[in-house]
Amino acid sequence: MRIRSVKTHIVDTPIPEEHRVRSGAGYKLARQAAFVEITTDEGITGYGPCSFGSASLDLGSVASLCDNTFAPALVGEDPHRIEHLWDKLYYGSIVRVHGYRSVGVAILSAIDIALWDIKGKALGAPIYQLLGGAFQDPVPAYSSSVYWDTPEGAARQARAFVDAGFRAFKVKVGADVENDIASLHAIRDEVGYGIDMLVDANQCYSRHLALKVGRVLEQLDVLFFEEPLPIDDVDGHAFLADKLDVRIATGENMYTRWDFVPFIERRAVHVVQADTSRCGGISEAKRIFDLAGSFHLHAVPHTFSDALTVAASVHLVAACSNAPVIEYDFTYNPIQTALVKNPPVPRDSVIELPTEPGLGVEIDWDFVADNPYTGTIGIGAGSRPAFGLGFEAIADRTATSLA
Ligand code: MG
Repeated sequence: MRIRSVKTHIVDTPIPEEHRVRSGAGYKLARQAAFVEITTDEGITGYGPCSFGSASLDLGSVASLCDNTFAPALVGEDPHRIEHLWDKLYYGSIVRVHGYRSVGVAILSAIDIALWDIKGKALGAPIYQLLGGAFQDPVPAYSSSVYWDTPEGAARQARAFVDAGFRAFKVKVGADVENDIASLHAIRDEVGYGIDMLVDANQCYSRHLALKVGRVLEQLDVLFFEEPLPIDDVDGHAFLADKLDVRIATGENMYTRWDFVPFIERRAVHVVQADTSRCGGISEAKRIFDLAGSFHLHAVPHTFSDALTVAASVHLVAACSNAPVIEYDFTYNPIQTALVKNPPVPRDSVIELPTEPGLGVEIDWDFVADNPYTGTIGIGAGSRPAFGLGFEAIADRTATSLA
């Protein structure tokens, strides 16, 4: 079998004002999916997502980089040789030109996942079977996320997740420390302690603010504290991991196993959160999860983009003994619910494993045709780490553009 073509598709759906994502990662304006389609000379086609959907960059540049630069290196190759092709793109192009922490790795992720989709379809097996078989079936899922809100509003959002059947959910913090703390208390008052709560700061805190909030998280029995600090502050994460009796989680913005190594070496993380469609694909996420497992750490994949990413992550979590749960975005997200005809969805806080070969999902081409890319940026500016002053020292945390 040989690869015949590689083509990128982009889907663009605006988010209504009342459903905007509000978090330290930015003010999300649209849900955008970029995914590759790899065809072969034997009629098998694979699909893989690139997690830069809804990102602050022109997705047209992602498509041209993939289709004009990476595709020629793949056409004519044997799609079954996934590790060979991963190395060919990574060492032949990405580390030399595009950067090892870059959109190049995200495109490599899409290609890797599409190759796994092809392999599964060619062998007639779901991908989790090729990764070693199901360690768990179904896969537990937590709901993501309670967005920035008043304490009363945050409690209402959390209640809606519980009423929808979730037994675990995540809460966004980082807007204002006192409001964050009040909101977390209000949520616990609303849902009680029988529900697992996770907290995500999207890199918005300084070390001292993270320690202050972290001590509240200890009292509120929070399961993990996600991206408490900027990802470049490895020592800061180690400081928190040493001081706090709450798990430290990070990794959604990391690329390849080599971003995770210093965190693991310096005991700065308890839960690694590699995103399959950003970190280097299913192949690289499996390596990262296994690396974490070697150090008795847990792995919980980040998914906050599209149905193909959820599907890839379901296969991965199913096959990994140290991956207890998967993230599922239960807010307004058409690219997660409508991009494929049979999206993996949680019921009673679990997701059943796909039974069809490969990823086990089928692209809805009508949805793709009906929601073409407009060229607009999908997310506003994210926040910088806060200092803790009683007034807003950093302008415009919810900016709708980068201007
Ligand atoms: Mg996060």
